[in-house]
Amino acid sequence: MDFNDSNQLKVFFDAHQDLPRQGPGNRASTERALDLAGDLPEAPRILDIGCGPGVQTLDLARARPDARITAVDLHEPFLAEASRRVAAAGAADRVTFERADMAALRYPDASFDLIWCEGAAYILGVEHALIQWQRLLRPAGVIALTDAVWLVADPPEPLNGWWRSNYPDMASIAERRALVEECGYRLLGDFVLPESAWWEPYYTPMETRLDRLKVKYADDPSAQAVLTDCQVEIDYYRRYPNCYGYLFLVMQSQRGAARPDP
Ligand code: SAH
Repeated sequence: MDFNDSNQLKVFFDAHQDLPRQGPGNRASTERALDLAGDLPEAPRILDIGCGPGVQTLDLARARPDARITAVDLHEPFLAEASRRVAAAGAADRVTFERADMAALRYPDASFDLIWCEGAAYILGVEHALIQWQRLLRPAGVIALTDAVWLVADPPEPLNGWWRSNYPDMASIAERRALVEECGYRLLGDFVLPESAWWEPYYTPMETRLDRLKVKYADDPSAQAVLTDCQVEIDYYRRYPNCYGYLFLVMQSQRGAARPDP
């Protein structure tokens, strides 16, 4: 699809708007990653980058009722939805939403104890994200993010080609672990999200939506092309769930961290 084509963009948002999430994830995985983050200070300052409709923002607020959370996204309708969700759960006083570009975050150095980013770091590129966001962390602060990874060394075609054109930077788990260290972090832990984290909040509701939109846009070939792209992505995961997955990586900044004894 062409993101500069306003009709196609509208159809793309039609397909994605009001889904529970905008990428794979679930509460159990968010909580597991939070456990891997280890001991956080009292009233930790958390930055949720690319918060989307705010599901993980709310999960974090529930898991750490003492936290002060700043959640950022570029897309106003997602921010509005996230804000509604958090308010409905009675957590509005602990979460601030801001429209901000993840590539140009203006917070002072060391503003946060924990940076969270589910399903969005690929937009900036994981390497750039790890380098650029480090200054926002206090010394020995933690980043937790999810990223699509290859689970096999030799993925079959046409799956390989599809991901190469949609996410050229997609790496293996070993490559991501190495990158974490190269960028000045220590890996605290990682795990692959379960398949249900792709289906329940994301692909299953999207597929129901696509069935409706295929009827609505039956006479619009340009819209149909967008819907076909979305369907192809879902069909790939249905067929090849063992070839790729979503990896949660939790890491501690080594900037200012106590060095282990040699
Ligand atoms: N964390 C959410 C959303 C992931 S989808 C979830 O897991 O459901 C990626 C999100 O990044 C979208 O909400 C999109 O609007 C947002 N986004 C895209 N480009 C961005 C940018 N440059 N800065 C901040 N957010 C961005």
